Formats: sequence, C-alpha cells, structure tokens
Amino acid sequence: MPIDEVTISRRCSNCGTEIEVVAVKKDNMMLSSKEFVWCPKCQAEHPEVRDIAGRLESIKTEQESYPLSTTVAPDRSTAEK
Ligand SMILES: [Zn+2]
Repeated sequence: MPIDEVTISRRCSNCGTEIEVVAVKKDNMMLSSKEFVWCPKCQAEHPEVRDIAGRLESIKTEQESYPLSTTVAPDRSTAEK
C-alpha cells in the first residue's frame, strides 16, 4: 500500500473539538482552509482547523500540560460564620 495518503483531522477552531478525520491524497493536502464546520460542542459554525492526525498526540499532551485556570478564592469570613 503506497503511502500517498495522509490522515487529516478537522477540528473546530474555537474549542478544538474534532469534527471528523479524513484521508486525503498528499498532493491534495491542504492544511490551510477557510471552510466552516458545524461544531456540535459550540452549537455554532466556526472556521475549521486542519492538522495531520498523527500530530494530534503531541498537541493533546501540550494542552494537558497547561495549568488549569482555576480561581481559588475561599471566602473565610462567611465560611466561619
Ligand atoms: Zn467548537
């Protein structure tokens, strides 16, 4: 099987949800797209982001390493009554 196809992941540019994975010929591979996709998570149309599916793992790892933006602000005065 010749390796002339690449797997492209189409994701929502807003939340990163993977919409679909498509296999395309390398010659037709276009990672820059102006197309819009319907994102079931956002419930809206957003510009799609294309990436080679094989690279998703590194992206996920990168995202998970981001610190969570939690706002820890215990209100002591009310907690102690
Ligand atoms: Zn989305």
